[in-house]
Amino acid sequence: MVFSTLAQRLEELQPLPLGNLPTPLAPLPRLSEALGGPEIWVKRDDLTGLGLGGNKVRKLTFLLAEALRRQADVIMTTGAQQSNHARQTAAAAAMLGLPCVLVLRGTPPPQAEGNYLLDVLLDAEVRWAGDRSALKALYAEAEALRQEGRNPYVITYGGSSALGACGFVSAIAELTAQTRVLGLEFDAIVFASSSGGTQAGMAVGARALNLPTRIVGISIAEPAAAFTQDLQKLSNETTALLNLNLTLKSEDFEVCDAYLGQGYGIVTDVEREAIRLAARTEGLFVDPVYTGRALGGLMDLIKRGEFTPAQRVLFWHTGGAPALFAYARDLTG
Ligand SMILES: *Cc1c(COP(=O)(O)O)cnc(C)c1O
Repeated sequence: MVFSTLAQRLEELQPLPLGNLPTPLAPLPRLSEALGGPEIWVKRDDLTGLGLGGNKVRKLTFLLAEALRRQADVIMTTGAQQSNHARQTAAAAAMLGLPCVLVLRGTPPPQAEGNYLLDVLLDAEVRWAGDRSALKALYAEAEALRQEGRNPYVITYGGSSALGACGFVSAIAELTAQTRVLGLEFDAIVFASSSGGTQAGMAVGARALNLPTRIVGISIAEPAAAFTQDLQKLSNETTALLNLNLTLKSEDFEVCDAYLGQGYGIVTDVEREAIRLAARTEGLFVDPVYTGRALGGLMDLIKRGEFTPAQRVLFWHTGGAPALFAYARDLTG
């Protein structure tokens, strides 16, 4: 399909101007040299701006447009205690003058740090799921607000609905416009993949625009087989929402689950080495939960010869650096 048709379908959803888009696309020559592999570039979605930025801003441009259309009077979502998605949602709600209720997993930490500190400063009302499933707790809290006569707009985990994924369909159109100007192509895009909206949106965008680039999601928490099914379902919901006559199959998704380590949010040498190398060679911060794991995975894939010096690889930086401040004990010493 042609570029302008896709752009028009996305525009019909009237995304809000919440962030600094397009984000910069830049080479990382010193990191590339240090790794002795492909030419590595970065897409700086850590610089989307709103509330210290990150990939969720792209999803929120579409989601909160719908919240306004539905005349919501409170925005609600869920996530881990150090959720970047929760923090960016709280920032977007603040910017629109709407209250925000966050239902976070588990119990409150002894001290507000990192993203959770920012949630508090953004004046989000934080409720704790305790031993309930976070998503179930979110729906229960939303229902309680409805009983009180409120009109909550409830955003699912990671903002990964079909509408949220449109943010990354749009991101692929944005990247295509940038690479066209620069006259270059990428052999692969590598990034942290977790609730799926980022990868599903990218896959739809790439298929719609016939982009031949490999899209390699480094899974943060899910084994590849189950996650691929989720991605396929979400992608096909997204093509339906955008009225695209496309069906994505499981082969359309490349998920690497070799770096799950000891689980979500547990820092190992993979993340520590990536965080240090990006900082030392490029003055670039990746985070302990997502982008550190994804860059660490890319570093390992390069070592294993998965990408060669003749290739050009885009590391899509999805944000998350505010969590660094909550992980000081795991990153020093
Ligand atoms: C949420 C998040 C991701 C994963 O994006 P999904 O769309 O949930 O797969 C990656 N990196 C960071 C920093 C995030 O906050």
